[in-house]
Amino acid sequence: MSEQTVLVINCGSSSLKFSLIAPDSGEQFVSGVAERLLTEQAFIKVSYQGSKQQTALTEPFDHQVAVNFIVDFLQQAGLSEKVSAVGHRVVHGGESYSQPTIIDDSVKASIADLGKLAPLHNPVNLIGIDAAEKAFDGLMQVAVFDTAFHQTMPSKAFIYGLPYHLYKQHGIRRYGFHGTSHYFVANQAAKELGKPIEQTSVITAHLGNGCSVTAIDNGQSVDTSMGLTPLEGVVMGTRSGDIDPGIVFHLIEQLNYSPDAVNSLLNKESGLLGISQMSNDCRTIEDAILEDNDTHADMTMDIFCYRIAKSIASYMAALTHFDALVFTGGIGENSDLVRSRVVRSLALLGLTLDEQRNTDIRFGKRGIISTDESVLCLVIPTNEELVIAMQSSDIIAKQQG
Ligand code: ADP
Repeated sequence: MSEQTVLVINCGSSSLKFSLIAPDSGEQFVSGVAERLLTEQAFIKVSYQGSKQQTALTEPFDHQVAVNFIVDFLQQAGLSEKVSAVGHRVVHGGESYSQPTIIDDSVKASIADLGKLAPLHNPVNLIGIDAAEKAFDGLMQVAVFDTAFHQTMPSKAFIYGLPYHLYKQHGIRRYGFHGTSHYFVANQAAKELGKPIEQTSVITAHLGNGCSVTAIDNGQSVDTSMGLTPLEGVVMGTRSGDIDPGIVFHLIEQLNYSPDAVNSLLNKESGLLGISQMSNDCRTIEDAILEDNDTHADMTMDIFCYRIAKSIASYMAALTHFDALVFTGGIGENSDLVRSRVVRSLALLGLTLDEQRNTDIRFGKRGIISTDESVLCLVIPTNEELVIAMQSSDIIAKQQG
């Protein structure tokens, strides 16, 4: 292995995903995830050279212990000398960051400050950055922001119908998330279309546990379904997506919910889980439909798919032309049922599905699922880690001139 590699770190509140990637070839040398951090059950799973190993972590069971484990693992595998940088996924970059950024003390201070807008995410992203700084003394650390790609949205798309001072003084606006994924699949779609990205207009549907739809016009994000937080937009695994804001007051004033209980209801108890009263996992709901003829599961799936289709159709107002619809994320890449129901609602936009192509594309495959006469409809597996590695390596190369 002669090429340089980037260690990509994606820190969540109780988990830490990592992978070591060569940005030029896209080769992934090792990857893994630490889970149940901050509990005595904390463990780390590592995939390396085709095998997987799971190891219990030691006290204090925190992100630093996980990062130290990764450092030791890389050393023992003879990989550590090739690590040229550490790239971090950072959820909220506010309006300050529209590009990947080399981390220094002032960048860390702004990430901390932006914790006001993403209290569940930015503070833990900083924990990952601090742990990596300690473990990889002297290596450049780069922040790649989930919000950055959407900073090209025009004000008509990002300003809410609220008093303007809330935006000016408190930054209350649409930011959008999953930017790295939307960016990646849009660029891959441009290649598929044989057009420069600057002339490519697509709608990308990232459907995973969190779901968001983005309108990309001539290569730039011009609207996206998530907002100030990742709660807005389509129905998700456990999040409600858009609801009448009046429901919040009704819950508090008439049904005696506390603000915390409303927060938990909308973020953790709603979406596929809340409607189905079964699971937040798309597979479980699909199985109930296909194997048990469960009509409630069927209704849940209809709501989920209709909302995605409605969001896609609304973006006709945002685009100058429409080259393709792209599905990605765990559901978008694997669920032919979801794709079929979404596309069926979009016949008026010129989209028709080839059912055989649709059922054939799953489990990491990419390809076309529309008929030859239809506007192009693609499935493209996302690769956020690769984008973080590539962008980290590019910014460092620029800095080093
Ligand atoms: P995250 O947002 O956490 O990265 P993923 O992108 O991995 O999540 O997506 C998780 C979702 O993908 C789950 O709802 C899961 O049910 C769904 N999914 C994964 N594999 C399949 C499959 N074969 N068929 C249908 N849905 C699937």
